[in-house]
Amino acid sequence: MLELKNIKKSYKTGNFTQHALKGVSIKFRKSEFVAILGASGSGKTTLLNIIGGLDRYDSGDLLINDKSTKKFKATEWDAYRNNCIGFIFQSYNLIGHISVLQNVEMALTLSGYKKKVRKQKALEALEKVGLADHAHKKPNQLSGGQMQRVAIARALVNDPDIILADEPTGALDSKTSVQIMDLIQEIAKDKLVIMVTHNPSLADTYASRIIEVKDGEIVHDSNPIVDQKETGGKVHIKKTVLSYFSALNLSFNNIKTKKGRTFLTAFAASIGIIGIALILSLSNGFQIEIDNFEQESLSQMPITISEQAMQLDEETLTEQMDQITNSEAKYPDEKVVKPMTSALNTMVHTNVITQDYVDYIKKLDPNILGGVSYQKATALNLITQATDGTYQKIDTGSTQLDMWQIFPSSVNDNEVGIVENNYDVLAGEINSDQPGLILQIDASNGVNSTILENLGFSTNEDISFDDIMNKEFKVALNDDYYQQVGNYYIPNNNLESVYNAQNSMTIKITAIIRGKEDKVLLTNGSSVYYTSSLVENIIEQNKNSAIVEQQQQTDYNIMTGEAFSEDLTKETWLAYLGVDSVPVAIYLYPKDFDSKDEIVAYLDAYNENKSSEDQVLYTDMAEMMSTLSGGIMDAITVVLIAFSSISLVVSSIMIAIITYISVLERTKEIGILRALGARGKDITRVFNAETLIIGLCSGLLGLGIAYLLTFPANAVIENLSGLPNVAKLNPIHALILLLISVTLTVLSGFIPAKMASKKDPVVALRTE
Ligand code: ADP
Ligand code: MG
Repeated sequence: MLELKNIKKSYKTGNFTQHALKGVSIKFRKSEFVAILGASGSGKTTLLNIIGGLDRYDSGDLLINDKSTKKFKATEWDAYRNNCIGFIFQSYNLIGHISVLQNVEMALTLSGYKKKVRKQKALEALEKVGLADHAHKKPNQLSGGQMQRVAIARALVNDPDIILADEPTGALDSKTSVQIMDLIQEIAKDKLVIMVTHNPSLADTYASRIIEVKDGEIVHDSNPIVDQKETGGKVHIKKTVLSYFSALNLSFNNIKTKKGRTFLTAFAASIGIIGIALILSLSNGFQIEIDNFEQESLSQMPITISEQAMQLDEETLTEQMDQITNSEAKYPDEKVVKPMTSALNTMVHTNVITQDYVDYIKKLDPNILGGVSYQKATALNLITQATDGTYQKIDTGSTQLDMWQIFPSSVNDNEVGIVENNYDVLAGEINSDQPGLILQIDASNGVNSTILENLGFSTNEDISFDDIMNKEFKVALNDDYYQQVGNYYIPNNNLESVYNAQNSMTIKITAIIRGKEDKVLLTNGSSVYYTSSLVENIIEQNKNSAIVEQQQQTDYNIMTGEAFSEDLTKETWLAYLGVDSVPVAIYLYPKDFDSKDEIVAYLDAYNENKSSEDQVLYTDMAEMMSTLSGGIMDAITVVLIAFSSISLVVSSIMIAIITYISVLERTKEIGILRALGARGKDITRVFNAETLIIGLCSGLLGLGIAYLLTFPANAVIENLSGLPNVAKLNPIHALILLLISVTLTVLSGFIPAKMASKKDPVVALRTE
């Protein structure tokens, strides 16, 4: 069943070629005890390795079951070693980090036996060699003789047809040697045992056939096969498979023997993960904070429709960028001046708010609109008496910031409106139907001194709510306020008489309000509002005033004498003087964050199929701010993650090195596994399993540490910004990071693992 035909094998070291086997031909019987005798260096081990399929012959042929092995594939050799051959080595070659039992089980593990069967067979084999009691010890807890028994048990466990023993007693004392030899002889009964030894007396005592080797050639065979009938019997070969789980188990046991190093490796590898996890949890947390802030506060910002709107669409922005970056047109040599349209002009869209549009807005679903305010162009002739007794006109719109507005009124009377949602009313009450003023104070009850002085209060000391509420203001009618001088009208300088005029309307501050604590944007400013009825009232009374009637009949500005222009049309001016008109601006207060989108969609719908100049564009500050903040957040996150990724790269390289070192360390183990029939693939699997474990450890460790670090990080952030519990690790991020960690480590260990699988088993076994 096994026949060597003129086998030659030589080793090249540098220029020197060592002919280890110089044409060896032997036939073996199915069951015999062959001793191969020869001096050291005569080629015995080489011969044995070639018979065992561990090494390849250069020329000649090895016939298994009368079949040539010249065209054997690597996997066929692996299967042959696993099923047909049991190796016993001089140096035992047990795997140190797994138990005796697991060592014996290994050949079965490699052939894919179930755990239960494996254990039972391994225990039986250990029983045979008298070591059943020592099954759970580690090999280094045994004596040399015991270790060799384990090796014999391992060689037997798969019930192979051939046992190959390479000087099995070479490292043992003579008494133990005898015991081992007895054992080998016993198992040799129905098997082919080929034992290499340089001890002739051992060979004489135990072997049924002695073959002497000298310088790579057979010099004597005590019992050669002459009768062809004697070569009967077949060996049976089936494929071997090391399951992933067994590979994991093997590596896990290996890793257990170097806990410290594995921990440090995993820790170092986890630093990148820690960094990224922290950044993600921070940016995630901040994004949540920002979203909350937006929901709480930005939704309180109205969508504004005024005379002008910024046009921030892509087209205009690209145009802008082109203008800025177009270097060709820059620094020309021509001696000319070029008329240019200002960059801003193209970005600003002029809205013409028509009655049509106002009607359209009025049809907005009151369920999504919390409040609305229509700003009129009408000037109010507001006069107050200062603390020193003098009279002054209240400036209601000198600067954009202080411009007085009509206080938004709730759209749906039955529902909690904009006031209740956003403001605490500290004094008085808000009633849109009552002509009056509303004073909004800031979070610390502060009001801009300019506003207070403008209203006629003393700013030397705090002013009580009562004093505020009791103060009277007069709204003068046009007929009292404007005096005709010739063809023109001018304001009356005698404010005292205007103040005291019979028709002047007395109003008060009807409410003092303050933004609710969680409405951040509302709590940091002070301002004055009109109630809408005050404006309606005044428009009603002024629409037939002399100045208005006169102006309606005149084609130039009745106060300045100037002609009207595009910048100041007659209509605008009349609206200013008190003629009712369409609003100059509309502020829409969404009911909540979600309804804003609906409102915006409604406004967009109006512009559909309209020419550019007929379109009415709105400004959504909240959207602008959130887009901006979101964009900045994303950019910062990406940059920080990029930096942290560097440590991931570093740790990947480190894992590759560590795996490489592990491959070097486990070279012997690789050799043993190969001798037991492991395929190259299986070896790769073992090391991939190792990196998988490290990757998992480092990922989990990193996430754990990152999670722990969020606590101090949150403490610091709370200290700095007052925001509690910002850093939050999103579980999905955690899962992805774990996957990245495992994938990266497995990938970086892949090349060393591949190298391991390529190792020559013979060379691997020779290493110590
Ligand atoms: P033995 O087992 O009889 O002592 P070996 O079969 O181990 O002898 O070696 C036979 C010869 O081949 C020796 O001279 C040895 O130096 C040489 N040899 C064996 N293996 C290698 C190798 N991997 N590389 C180079 N020379 C080798
Ligand atoms: Mg040898």
